[in-house]
Amino acid sequence: MKKLFMLKYAELNTKKDNIQLFLKQLKTNLEQALGKYDVHIQYDKGRMFVEAYEEYDAILDVLTHTFGIHEVVLGYELPSNDLKGIEEELKNVIREKDFQTFKIETKRSFKDYPMTSMEVSKYLGGVVLKNKENVRVDVHHPEITFHVEIRYNHAYLYSDSYPGIGGYPVGTLGKGLLMLSGGIDSPVAGYLAMKRGIRLEAIYFESPPHTSVEAKEKVLRLAEILSRYGGRIKVHVIPFTAIQEEIYKKVPHEYLVTIMRRMMYRIAAKVAYQNHCKILINGESIGQVASQTLTSMSVINEVVRMPVIRPVACFDKLEIIDVAKKIGTYETSILPYEDCCTIFVPRHPVINPDLQKCIEYEQLFDYETLIWEAIKKHEVVSGEKKKEFEEYL
Ligand code: ATP
Ligand code: MG
Repeated sequence: MKKLFMLKYAELNTKKDNIQLFLKQLKTNLEQALGKYDVHIQYDKGRMFVEAYEEYDAILDVLTHTFGIHEVVLGYELPSNDLKGIEEELKNVIREKDFQTFKIETKRSFKDYPMTSMEVSKYLGGVVLKNKENVRVDVHHPEITFHVEIRYNHAYLYSDSYPGIGGYPVGTLGKGLLMLSGGIDSPVAGYLAMKRGIRLEAIYFESPPHTSVEAKEKVLRLAEILSRYGGRIKVHVIPFTAIQEEIYKKVPHEYLVTIMRRMMYRIAAKVAYQNHCKILINGESIGQVASQTLTSMSVINEVVRMPVIRPVACFDKLEIIDVAKKIGTYETSILPYEDCCTIFVPRHPVINPDLQKCIEYEQLFDYETLIWEAIKKHEVVSGEKKKEFEEYL
C-alpha cells in the first residue's frame, strides 16, 4: 500500500520572505537522504508530502532526523475519494486509538468535489462521535487530529504523528567549519550549528605518533554520526605534530595550550576560507578548562577575523552530555583515545594569558612556514571519497 508522510515545517513559517529558498533546500536534503528509496516528494507553502511505497520505518527515521521538520504525520492512501470509503477507513483507525479530544481537518486539492472541506470535516466529526465513546471535539488543543486530503481520484487519511527535530534545513545558511576533536563538546556544537541551517565541513588536528590512528577514526566516526542530520561532512585532517613539537621546544610550558590553540585557529581560518566556509564553530564552553576563560578565549580569538561561533559556550557539562546522548555521539566521544591537546597539556596552564607574551613567544619559531606546510599536506576525508596527499603518507 502506498503511504504518505505529511511534513509540517518547523520555524519556516516565520520566514515569509525566504520560504521558497528554505523549502527548496529541505526538498533537496530529503531527496539526498532518501535517495535509495522509491519516494516522490512535493510541497506547498504549508506542508511537504513524501509518498512512499516501501521501507516506511527507515523513511520515517530519516524524516524525524532531518532539520526543518517540526512534525511528521503518517497517512494512508484510499483508492477513491468517495466519502463512504473515507468514513469506513476512519472507523477502522479510531478503533485502534485511545483519545478523548479530536478534530478533523480536511483539505481538497480537487475543488469540484461535491462537498466543501468544512462539510467533510463536520460529517466525519459526526462519524467519530457516533462510533467512539467518551470523545469530544476540541478544535484548539485536540489530542489527535485526523487529516483528510481529497484529491482528484483518491484520498488520504492520516493521524499518526511523530515529533521532528525542528531547526532550519541544513544548507540554507551557508557553510561553517567545525573544529572537531574526539571529545564530547565539539560534536554537540556541530549538531547545534546544523540545526540553525549551517552546512558543516570539519577540521581535525592530529599529532601522530603522539595520537593514534584510533583517535582519528573516532573523529571520522563522529563526523559520520553527525552527517545523519545534514548530509556528508568533509573532514580536513591537519598534520599538527611538527607545529606542536616546535611549540613544546620553544615556548614556556604554561603558554603551550594558548599558543597551540592560536595556531589551530589560524589554520582553521585559512582552511575555512579556502573551502568557502564563512564561520568557525567549536565546542568551547566558558570556564570548562584554562583555555576557556574569557581572557584565554579573547587572546586565542585574536588571531582570526572570521566569526567564531561557540554553540555550547553557556551550557554546563551535564547539559552538553544530555544533547550528546540524544544525538548519538556520546558513546563514541567517551572512547578512551588521546587527543592532541591532552598530550601536550602542561601541569599549570596559564589562566589569564597575556597577549604581548603570546606575540613574543610566537617570534621564537617560524610558525607561518609550519602552518602552510601543514595545510599543504592535509588530508581530506569525505566519506565516499578519500583523497590522501602523498607527502602525508
Ligand atoms: P571537546 O570535548 O570537544 O574535545 P574540550 O572540552 O576537550 O572539548 P578543548 O580540548 O579545550 O576542550 O577544546 C576546545 C575546542 O577546540 C573543542 O571543542 C574543539 O572544537 C576544538 N579542538 C580541540 N582539539 C581539537 C583537535 N585536535 N582538532 C580539532 N578541533 C579541536
Ligand atoms: Mg578535547
